[in-house]
Amino acid sequence: MKILKKPEWLKVRLSGTEHFAATKKLIGEYGLNTVCRSALCPNLQECWSSGTATFLLLGDTCTRSCRFCAITTTTAQLPFPSIDEPRKIARAVTKMQLNHVVLTSVTRDDLPDGGSSAWAETIKAVREENPNVTIECLIPDFEGISEDLDRVMRLKPDVLNHNVETVPDLYDSVRPQADYFRSLEVLRIAKQAYDLRTKSGLMVGMGETEQQVKKVLDDLVGIGCNHLTIGQYLQPSLRHFPVHSYITPEKFDNYRKYALNAGFTNVQSGPYVRSSYHAADSV
Ligand code: SF4
Repeated sequence: MKILKKPEWLKVRLSGTEHFAATKKLIGEYGLNTVCRSALCPNLQECWSSGTATFLLLGDTCTRSCRFCAITTTTAQLPFPSIDEPRKIARAVTKMQLNHVVLTSVTRDDLPDGGSSAWAETIKAVREENPNVTIECLIPDFEGISEDLDRVMRLKPDVLNHNVETVPDLYDSVRPQADYFRSLEVLRIAKQAYDLRTKSGLMVGMGETEQQVKKVLDDLVGIGCNHLTIGQYLQPSLRHFPVHSYITPEKFDNYRKYALNAGFTNVQSGPYVRSSYHAADSV
């Protein structure tokens, strides 16, 4: 497929500040992973400059291989997650004086509990050190295993986020180890069984139709999902899934209006929007 030229509205905005440098130093000192860096997020400068970051739990290597994702993946044996990670993340949250933190992780289908115990330990450690901080958990699907989902959801994070990422017809091509309906079920359980504020998101520009996107939004509203993010898919490297089209800012605005009309209470929709973009607005 021909590589599309980036349109004007997707020019990278750089704004390194003192805060950016301090955040970078702190994350390096604690040996932590952030999804900002691992997933080559286009908002890294903006977020780090304002003192926010999304921490990546369970290492920096994923056992799945989504074709849009910049995170390193493997089928080889991975080490067990570091037992120090929860405490280090909690300490970094304190040092960064965050009011709101986003936790996410790679998918670890190799671990007996999918990494859910490490998730729970991290939530507890962050709260212990920072009782007033609000927490958004952007979780993997834990293969839909209810014990693993329960380990995280019963701790009642302020926002439970799980991305559907794309429309169901594209799952086989870009997310072969995931299942759209399993992802919906994760969000349904979070809402119905735990009464959590839920959030999901998807990328556009991978070949989906407008009708398919709207159907996903309707599905999410149908299971009580509160918040939504929609952003432009950007190809991390030549070996990743190609960009099919660049969606115009006007179309993003139409999606935002459609989503708000459908019933979402907070919608971030735009070329640069990523899952954690302006995450504090979701609380
Ligand atoms: S499961 Fe998540 S982290 Fe792993 S490859 Fe897919 S999108 Fe990336």
